Amino acid sequence: MSKNKEFKIYEVVLSQLEEAANELNLDPQVRALLKEPMRTLIVSIPVRMDDGGIRVFKGFRCQHNDVLGPTKGGIRFHPQVEMEEVEALAAWMTFKCALVGIPYGGAKGGVLCNPKEMSKTELEKLSRRFIQALEPIIGPEKDIPAPDVYTDAQVMSWFMDEFSKIKGVYSPGLVTGKPRILGGSYGRDSATARGLMYVTREGAKKIGLDLEGATVVIQGYGNAGSFSGIFLRELGCKVIAANDSSGGVYNPDGLNAEKLRDFKNENGELQGYPGSVKNISNKELLALECDILVPAALENQINKENVGNINAKIIAEAANGPTTPEADRVLNKGGTLVIPDILANAGGVTVSYFEWVQNLYNYYWDREEVDQKLEKVMVSAFNRTNEMAEERGVTFRTAAYMVAINRLTEAMAARGWVEL
Ligand code: NAD
Repeated sequence: MSKNKEFKIYEVVLSQLEEAANELNLDPQVRALLKEPMRTLIVSIPVRMDDGGIRVFKGFRCQHNDVLGPTKGGIRFHPQVEMEEVEALAAWMTFKCALVGIPYGGAKGGVLCNPKEMSKTELEKLSRRFIQALEPIIGPEKDIPAPDVYTDAQVMSWFMDEFSKIKGVYSPGLVTGKPRILGGSYGRDSATARGLMYVTREGAKKIGLDLEGATVVIQGYGNAGSFSGIFLRELGCKVIAANDSSGGVYNPDGLNAEKLRDFKNENGELQGYPGSVKNISNKELLALECDILVPAALENQINKENVGNINAKIIAEAANGPTTPEADRVLNKGGTLVIPDILANAGGVTVSYFEWVQNLYNYYWDREEVDQKLEKVMVSAFNRTNEMAEERGVTFRTAAYMVAINRLTEAMAARGWVEL
């Protein structure tokens, strides 16, 4: 989905890893193990379509590193899925899980298809055949998929059902992001944004930003973006602008984040949102002066072309890889606190972990318990990152990687993968 051919997403991962590895003077064996994904499976998935013909879809599952536990990561269904992108997202999952201290490695998967043009029956057949193809390498103790772009609780239910049939064992722990009736957790749908809200709150404390009336701009008002708007508004912030792929809306006096979400859910897009708003382009939105900017759409959004126009005190990365390494350097030099994706959006995988734990125990928590546990995980990951950043005089992103790499290194040494 990295539309710009010049943009090599795995190189972004390598550059971020390299910076932290150099700072840590990292052992070359560990460096080599973290640079390459452990395994990528490429599969062909034949599906009989509604017109009676067979179509063969291509799919990937990448498991980047499993030193800390079974691998974990979403599966996306999208017409522009690329193997390199899946591998980059899998690597980010490895660092994210290690940073927040949950016992998982990183994985990601994707199938090249356009779900918007497929019937429900075709989508179900594709989902089941994909799980048949992945079956040898996935499972509650091996690799646990989750929803991602254009996959949802329904797709997860088909995955789980197919796997349970193959194994002859009811296996809710195969996937997370399931409906609650099949063992889904409270709070999973909004967990990424809730986690982002906790770390943004801590970031604001760090830089002395009063959140009462603090202005927020959100790029990509989908799941992560809209819940971020709603939760930040609960903290007293004022969402002044938001957009999606159809366009953007701006009101310096503040937008009602919930009404905006409801409008988008009912109409499928923000275009046409009524009320006193000015319509703005994506370029204008990113250039707005604000306290907090939340990129929640795609990768490569803040880059060397537009970084000079960015005017925010905090950037909280809900999306994976929204800021390129060049832009990151400019922002850090200019004093913007960039809360990196592997920290800012880690709430999603954290509550996925809670879902899996509940499935394995077959004992379920209420919403309050989930939220409290999430807050604890996110605040302590923020504090570990902050301590590292202050102690070593590095950016928040490099500090987050350093914390993660230290844990990965310790586990590799303990398991005898490397000798230090
Ligand atoms: P989503 O599909 O619900 O929302 C994405 C939104 O971005 C959509 O509203 C879309 O219209 C908008 N968009 C697309 N292109 C755009 C553009 N050029 N300009 C402005 N808006 C644009 O997806 P999501 O689940 O909210 O995920 C968004 C990002 O957050 C992705 O990078 C994803 O990997 C990351 N993320 C999500 C979760 C989660 O739990 N949902 C967890 C971790 C990371």
